[in-house]
Amino acid sequence: TRPPNGDAAIARAATLKPIAEIGEKLGVPWSAMAPYGHTKAKIDLDYIASLADRPDGKLILVTGLTPTPPGEGKTTTTVGLTDALSAAGESVAACLREPSLGPCFGMKGGAAGGGYAQVVPMDDLNLHFTGDMHAIGMAHNLLAAMIDNHINWRNELNLDPRRVSWRRVMDMNERALREIVIGLGTGNGMPREDGFDITVASEIMAILCLATDMTDLQARLARIVVAETRDRQPVTAADLEADGAMAVLLKDAIKPNLVQTLENTPVFVHGGPFANIAHGCNSAIATRAALKLADYVVTEAGFGADLGAEKFFDIKCRMTGLKPAAAVIVATARALKVHGGNAVQHLEEEDVEAVRKGCDNLRRHVRNIRSYGVPAVVAINRFPSDTDAELEAIADEMRTEGVETSLCTHFADGGAGAADLARTVTDVVARGEADFKPLYPDDMELLDKIRTVAQKIYGAEDISAGHAIRARLKNLEKAGYGHFPVCIAKTQYSFTTDPNLRGAPSGHIIPVREVRLSAGAGFIVVICGEIMTMPGLPRRPAAADIRMHADGYIDGLF
Ligand code: ADP
Ligand code: MG
Repeated sequence: TRPPNGDAAIARAATLKPIAEIGEKLGVPWSAMAPYGHTKAKIDLDYIASLADRPDGKLILVTGLTPTPPGEGKTTTTVGLTDALSAAGESVAACLREPSLGPCFGMKGGAAGGGYAQVVPMDDLNLHFTGDMHAIGMAHNLLAAMIDNHINWRNELNLDPRRVSWRRVMDMNERALREIVIGLGTGNGMPREDGFDITVASEIMAILCLATDMTDLQARLARIVVAETRDRQPVTAADLEADGAMAVLLKDAIKPNLVQTLENTPVFVHGGPFANIAHGCNSAIATRAALKLADYVVTEAGFGADLGAEKFFDIKCRMTGLKPAAAVIVATARALKVHGGNAVQHLEEEDVEAVRKGCDNLRRHVRNIRSYGVPAVVAINRFPSDTDAELEAIADEMRTEGVETSLCTHFADGGAGAADLARTVTDVVARGEADFKPLYPDDMELLDKIRTVAQKIYGAEDISAGHAIRARLKNLEKAGYGHFPVCIAKTQYSFTTDPNLRGAPSGHIIPVREVRLSAGAGFIVVICGEIMTMPGLPRRPAAADIRMHADGYIDGLF
């Protein structure tokens, strides 16, 4: 067990190098870096474009088994593996998502890793960072303001105020703003129902993360569909002439941010879309830049591999041409125990049988990853209460699956604790077995794409979709969106849509509840089950424990 605020104390004790030195490790000249203070910098897009002819490094995806609520250590493992590769003398960078303020003040904490495998400066990372989240929120809300303004001034596009799908956003867990009425009073526009989502759920965030450059960014912004006219025709951001100003607001947010690990290894932290109604990984611009600058790039996808890795492969890699060389699946004895039927309150007690049984879950993720032509390695992230017998059981179960495992202690030991994982991964990459291909072709019908993911990845028998859903999908195909990949939003806690069904259930039905078009991001959001796009704060939010001491030390962030 670690002392309260152990992560914060470790982060505070870190010796950070000036960001120029971190850039130097990747060969980035100072002239291509825009420093934000001494330990953060944005990288110039012109400089990144100038690297186009260089060969790409090897891309390693860190994903996980089906998670349990506290998280299994994907970010921590991404950082540990990156530090281990660096310690082994490799040229390496990590690519991570930017944390949202919502969870920082809510329950989960930030997203900077933990223990001796962290990204620093942790406080800055969690609080405002380089302002990207703010810029994204502003670009989103500018479009929202221009919609209501258009309706107010004669509404020449004949926009139907009851069919505005573009909501507003804020980077805070704020359940009171989920459903609101705007435009009340005289001279304040047309009253209509509206609501807020958290900024990371904004389509602008997904767009920023999938755009390849500033031109592509603006083209994607222009394509956003915000509403329908009274005769049911789509209205876009371009129709409202909002795309130019929105792109201008994002001119700095689109530049990747460079920071470092506790062991001074370069980390790009850029973009952070939700992993349910969006694709859940850092920006393509950062990943592509990192691949030009380092021989190995380690990146994380949110949630378990059924959601995070699936979207990383079928959305991000498909759209941007990335070809992963290997995937690391993070597993913990604790989560396997839960999947094996153990109750969450007994996680500290040895239960080898439950661990073995829970390996069904891990096994399915391994097979799924391999079905994309990507070799998999299992990283066992050791927690203090794990017993040797439990850890050996995981390795044993995976041996019969023919997948290599590596026991990792980077949380306690930093990069040294992931040295074996680094060796295993570089060996797998060196064998050159990767032959990445997405799960389904672009030209498959949308309904079949959903069915393919449900059957091949979730182990479902089939999907169910009512008449209205099927008609909507057909209309989307007719409108020219049939080639889009699908982005399935469902619970991350199960292969089914019931968060309580752990393990590796099969034969279930995935009910499709709603379909939304993200025309700018370039995917069709398929909602299966209850999905929250504006979280609330828990009874006692993490914010209640956050304090600044007289010496500037911040307590309570993690
Ligand atoms: P994920 O990215 O999968 O959500 P994180 O890496 O953010 O997971 O880790 C989730 C939480 O678990 C963090 O608070 C982290 O500090 C903690 N954690 C991760 N690995 C360990 C470990 N081996 N021992 C103890 N705590 C850990
Ligand atoms: Mg994470």
